[in-house]
Amino acid sequence: MAHIENPDWRPARIVENRCVARGTYWITLEAADEKPAAYQPGHVLGLRLNRDGAEPLRHAYTVSWGEPAKRRFSHLYRVILDGRMTPLMGELEPGAAMDFHGPVHTPIVDEVDKKAKRIFGIATGTGLGPLYGYALQALAAGETRPVTLYTGMRARADLCFDAELKALAAKHSNLSHAFTLTKPDAAWRAAKGLTGRVDDALPPLLKKAGRLGEAHYHLVGNGAMVRLWRAALKAAGVPEKRVSVETFFNHRVEPTPSQIRSLAAKLGSS
Ligand SMILES: Cc1cc2nc3c(=O)[nH]c(=O)nc-3n(C[C@H](O)[C@H](O)[C@H](O)COP(=O)(O)OP(=O)(O)OC[C@H]3O[C@@H](n4cnc5c(N)ncnc54)[C@H](O)[C@@H]3O)c2cc1C
Repeated sequence: MAHIENPDWRPARIVENRCVARGTYWITLEAADEKPAAYQPGHVLGLRLNRDGAEPLRHAYTVSWGEPAKRRFSHLYRVILDGRMTPLMGELEPGAAMDFHGPVHTPIVDEVDKKAKRIFGIATGTGLGPLYGYALQALAAGETRPVTLYTGMRARADLCFDAELKALAAKHSNLSHAFTLTKPDAAWRAAKGLTGRVDDALPPLLKKAGRLGEAHYHLVGNGAMVRLWRAALKAAGVPEKRVSVETFFNHRVEPTPSQIRSLAAKLGSS
């Protein structure tokens, strides 16, 4: 948590911590003090895990969903097998304590350009969490523009919130979502699911949707994807205000000029 020094940590208790896909968990916390806890998808909180006789562990997590009236907030997180904090987090039971502080960053709903004609959320892995929450929030608030979520995952075992998003799309005809898998199985291929990295699978779909520069793009997850897409969208002529980002890891990975040119060429001009 480089953003905030000496944060004012607050106590919370875990309401739910359930596995929703291979190595992927949905955690809901409730503030255990008397203060308000009103957070929206895209806000970022610090979470801290205290350990007996050892230094506390802390990391940033993006809010996927907030319930201000209950002072609850949820995050989608990946258990990193050789990670320091997430393997311990994955074992926490309801009622266990964690600390939190924040928020920092801006809710996605406030980042999306009001004049854009369409909204694309592009995620890798657990970046889907805040996009899912954003879709729930925006559609409930009456968003009528087309909202399309694309998430890059490795394999079918990694998929989560597919049924929930399909149910949401059945209620809101302007929502659609799809996963693209880098390790698809035969059934996925037979069902004609998207395959390959987001850089390969998405450009033809984005082009088909209309002029590139008319849409807003929210990019979230692996920094390698986020930085490449932000640079390529810029190179393709999309105004900077039409791109918002959240990076979970690989913060320093710089795309090469040829990677940027290649993706920008696939995207075409705005
Ligand atoms: C602003 C911000 C928001 C974040 N929001 C989320 C979130 O909502 N959900 C979430 O799962 N993570 C999120 N992260 C990442 C999170 O803060 C931790 O870095 C992550 O949970 C790893 O913790 P760890 O101690 O287990 O691993 P560490 O021992 O710190 O090992 C970190 C290594 O794990 C890898 N890694 C980190 N995060 C991920 C990930 N999500 N998927 C795959 N590999 C990863 C990286 O290669 C990194 O080098 C966010 C990070 C930032 C900066």
